[in-house]
Amino acid sequence: MNNKVALITGSSSGIGRTTALTFARNGFGVIINHLNDREQAEQVLKEVQNAGSQGLVIQADVSKSDEAKHMMDVAVEEFGHIDVLVNNAGITRDQLMVRLSDEDWLQVINTNLNGAFYCSRAAVKYMMKKRYGRIINISSVVGISGNAGQTNYAAAKSGLLGLTFSIAHEYGRRGINANAVAPGYIQSNMTAKLSPEQTEKIKSGIAVGRLGTSDDIAGVIAFLASPAADYINGQVIRVDGGLSGL
Ligand code: NAP
Repeated sequence: MNNKVALITGSSSGIGRTTALTFARNGFGVIINHLNDREQAEQVLKEVQNAGSQGLVIQADVSKSDEAKHMMDVAVEEFGHIDVLVNNAGITRDQLMVRLSDEDWLQVINTNLNGAFYCSRAAVKYMMKKRYGRIINISSVVGISGNAGQTNYAAAKSGLLGLTFSIAHEYGRRGINANAVAPGYIQSNMTAKLSPEQTEKIKSGIAVGRLGTSDDIAGVIAFLASPAADYINGQVIRVDGGLSGL
């Protein structure tokens, strides 16, 4: 995997951070994207460099088309190409639908779905030139089954699946594969918002009896970016420890 370059959106923390470090350990150049937390992003950069890889931090709001495009342009200016794009940046604004504001609906759709579209469109232009690319979209089990209190999030995560399948059809012949990973409940800032009671209830519905770790997800993302997965295209892989009820 030497000389390959991966850009991971939202890699200042959680699943994105662990994915960035996994790619670095696998010999990829790594572009770390973040929105607010510059300090954490710089810390991830140090860890990428300590793993012996080249890294670059790019602050960009993926929900803004021009910022997403600018990020890809800068990445290609610095590294020459992008081989792997992981659309991982995501937020939640949970609320029952009747109380969900237009703003919270739009913010989640803009970040979790539109952001992946803006980044993929910008990256594919460069990937086509090399006739090689791997796009990995981080969806959610909620995007497959829906979830009460998450109409905005579930709609965005389902939309990501349609985006994934369609990219796979549109660019498969040009050497670009697109796949999605649908994590279950993973320990991160996002799930830290759950109460201990909610966490216990969720755990009781997971066959392996624990929440996932960011390593559980990063390993699957790294596999999808590896030559071992060259013939996997337009798929969604659930990584949820055997979750029932969702
Ligand atoms: P997290 O720890 O909250 O990290 C979210 C990351 O996204 C941060 O790096 C954040 O950057 C970045 N981000 C947010 N808005 C952004 C924007 N507009 N532009 C660029 N970056 C932005 O979340 P996580 O739990 O690791 O989740 C990562 C992905 O996995 C998300 O797509 C999430 O929906 C999905 N997922 C998570 C779980 C779970 O249980 N944790 C389950 C299923 C799916 P800053 O901090 O710098 O602002």
